[in-house]
Amino acid sequence: MVVLDMVDLCIRNARLRHKGDELFDIAITDGRISAIGGGLSVLAQDEIDAEGSLVTVSFANPHLHLCKVWTLPMMNEAALSAYHGADMGKALAAIDLARVVKDNYDASWITRNARRAVALAALHGNLHIRAFADVDSKARLEGVKALIAVRDEFRGIVDVQVVAFAQDGIIKDPGTDRLMHEAMALGADVVGGIPWIEFSDQEAQQHIDFCFDLARTHDADISMLLDDAGDASLRTLEMMATETIRRGWQGRALAHHCRAMALYGEPYLQRLSGTLRKAAVSVVSDPHTGPLHARVRDLLGEGINVCLGQDDISDAYYPFGRNNMLEVAFLASHMLWMTGREEIEKLYDMVTVAPAKAMNVSGHDIAVGANANLVVLGQPDVIEALRYHAPPRHVVSHGRRVDLDRMQHLARGGAPASATGG
Ligand SMILES: [Zn+2]
Repeated sequence: MVVLDMVDLCIRNARLRHKGDELFDIAITDGRISAIGGGLSVLAQDEIDAEGSLVTVSFANPHLHLCKVWTLPMMNEAALSAYHGADMGKALAAIDLARVVKDNYDASWITRNARRAVALAALHGNLHIRAFADVDSKARLEGVKALIAVRDEFRGIVDVQVVAFAQDGIIKDPGTDRLMHEAMALGADVVGGIPWIEFSDQEAQQHIDFCFDLARTHDADISMLLDDAGDASLRTLEMMATETIRRGWQGRALAHHCRAMALYGEPYLQRLSGTLRKAAVSVVSDPHTGPLHARVRDLLGEGINVCLGQDDISDAYYPFGRNNMLEVAFLASHMLWMTGREEIEKLYDMVTVAPAKAMNVSGHDIAVGANANLVVLGQPDVIEALRYHAPPRHVVSHGRRVDLDRMQHLARGGAPASATGG
C-alpha cells in the first residue's frame, strides 16, 4: 500500500513564471512550500485548482502612507494641485498644505481607514506593506498607534511594517526627535525620514544622522523620502547612501521617490549609481503619484534594485489607489514606457520579489522551503495579469487560504469580528 504524504494545502495545475506551458502542483506544510512537481502524490487538507492559471509569489508594497488613506475627502485639494503642478516646483508647499488634516488626528478613525486599506491589500494578494505613520508635533503618535493596532490585527494575513515617519522634518519641527524615540519604543519597526525638506544641507545631514542613530539603537531598517521635488540641486539620496556605507547599514536603508533624479545630468547619475550599489540601497518609485519620477530604466541598467510603491490612497497627494500592485505596475508600464515582454516581466518583479528584497522579507520565492505567500491569478501569464489587473482568484498567506469574503467585508468598512484569526 502506498502511503501518501499529508500536507496542509496543495495548489494543483499551476502555471509558473519562466516555465513555459508545463503545469505544476505546489504542496504546502507548516507555512512553507514542501514540494513542487507535476502531479504530486500528496493528500491535502485543502486543495486549490489553479486550472492552468499563473501562480506567483504574493505582491509587496514598499511605500504606503497608511495613516493618511481616505483623508482627501476631509480636506480641500490645494495640496494635491500644489504637488502635481508646476513640474513639482511647489512640492514643499504641498507638504505644508497637507498638514491641515492633522489638526484632528486621532487613532480611532485612522485605524478604521487603515483597516479598509489593508483588507483591500489582502484582496489583491498584496501581503507585505511598508506603512508610513506620520510622527510630528501635529500628528503626535496617533498614526503610529493606529498602524501598530492594524499591523497586529492583520498578523498572519498581511505583514505590515510600521515606519515612524518624521513627515514634517526633525530639525524643522521641534519636538519630533522625542516623538520619534517614543514611536520606536511603542513598537514601530522602521525609522522613516525626509531630509530634503529641512532648510539647509547641514540640517538635512543632521536629520539623516538622527535617523541612523535611532535605527542603530533599535536595530531597525531605515526608509527615507528623498529629493521629492522638481529641484536638480537636491542631493539627499547621495547623502543617505554615503551615510549607509559609513555606518555599515548596507541593505537596510531604502530610498523613496528621488524625483529630482529626473533632472540630474548623466555624469552625476553615473557617480550616484556607484554609491547606491556600494550601499546596497534599493529605490522605490511611484511614477503615478507625481509628474516627475526617478530614472527607473537607468537605475535598472546600473544594477540597482528598483521597486514600485502604491504611495497613496485618496490623500492630499493622490486621489485613487486600492493597494492593487498589478494596477500600480500597469500604470508604471505607461508612465515609464516599459511595454516589451521582458520589461513587463521586470515590472512584475518590481511589485513582487524586488520590494520583498528592499523590505528585507526573506524566503519570498517559489521554491521548496520558501514561505508560502502566493497568489493564484485568473490569467495564464504576466501580460494578461497586467492587462486585467484583477484581484487574484485565491490568495495564500503563511500557507493558508485568505478568507476573501471577510476581507471584502472589512474593505467596505465593515466591523471586524472580535478575536478572529486568519
Ligand atoms: Zn510618499
